[in-house]
Parts: sequence; structure tokens; C-alpha cells
Amino acid sequence: MTKRIVQKEHRALRKIARAIDPKEISTTKIQKMIVEMTVALEKEPDGVALAAPQIGESLRLFIVSPMAYEAMNFSGKKKLVFINPVILKRSKDKKLVEEGCLSVRPLYGKVRRSSRVTIEAYDERGEKFIMESTGLLAQIFQHETDHLEGVLFTDKAKELMEMPKEFYEKH
Ligand SMILES: [Zn+2]
Repeated sequence: MTKRIVQKEHRALRKIARAIDPKEISTTKIQKMIVEMTVALEKEPDGVALAAPQIGESLRLFIVSPMAYEAMNFSGKKKLVFINPVILKRSKDKKLVEEGCLSVRPLYGKVRRSSRVTIEAYDERGEKFIMESTGLLAQIFQHETDHLEGVLFTDKAKELMEMPKEFYEKH
């Protein structure tokens, strides 16, 4: 069953999401959710990441598409699942970057994001890891952890505009 990606009026997008007990990670519920989110994200040609609230589940989990790593020629260990993510460090250096969201169609805008962040999270096997990133990945980490706090990019964006449908719909 494919999960629908909910749109901005949905309550889950405005809640502070619940932490997942590390012992819960191996349960069918969480493992099934990771698969459902992966399937939902694969269907979005311009989607690079997805947070659990975006499928209506108010839990602290997000996934990143392998596409995001490819886009930035990432050479380190690629992590696709981030459970209970915490941003440990954000650079003072910030850049205004273009951003959109699968739950805030069809808006795009510019958001000021730290150019480098360090994130700590559990992966899908319940192992804790720390990852440092720049560029698109750093932007994704900030956008997705915002989702877990009930914050949408449109709360922070400047120069919001509508993107034509052809931009994000598969033909
Ligand atoms: Zn989003």
C-alpha cells in the first residue's frame, strides 16, 4: 500500500513529533513505515527527502533519497534513515538557498540555512551515528528536522513563488 504524502493543512505537519524508543526501531511498525516512506519518496521525481509527519505519522524519523547523495558526489558512508535526529552543530555561516517541500506544493522560496551541520541519529538497525555535511545534505537535515518540530519552510522563506506543475509531475 502506498502512503499518501499529506499537504500543509494536515495536523501532523504542525505537531512536535514523538521520539522513537530505540527498542522500537526493529518493530514491524517502524520497519514497515520506513519501507512505505521509501516507496512514497521514490514516486516523487524531485523529492530528495521525506519526514514521517509528511505521511501523517507524528514520529521523529526522516529518510533521504540516494539521489541527494548522488547530486553532491558524496563519498562518505551514505545514510538513508535518520531516527530521533538531533543537529549537534550548525555553522554560523549561512546561505540563502532555494527550497521546496513535497507537502507544500507548489510553492518554492529561498531560506537561510547553515552551510554546514553535524547531525546525530539512529539508523534503521538502531545504530547511533554522527554525520557532518555541507551543501544540499546540510540543507536537507535542517529542513527535515524542522518538520519534526512542526515547522514548514514557508514559515521562514522569502520570495515565495509557485512552480509550474510540469516541474514536479511525472509525464
Ligand atoms: Zn518538507
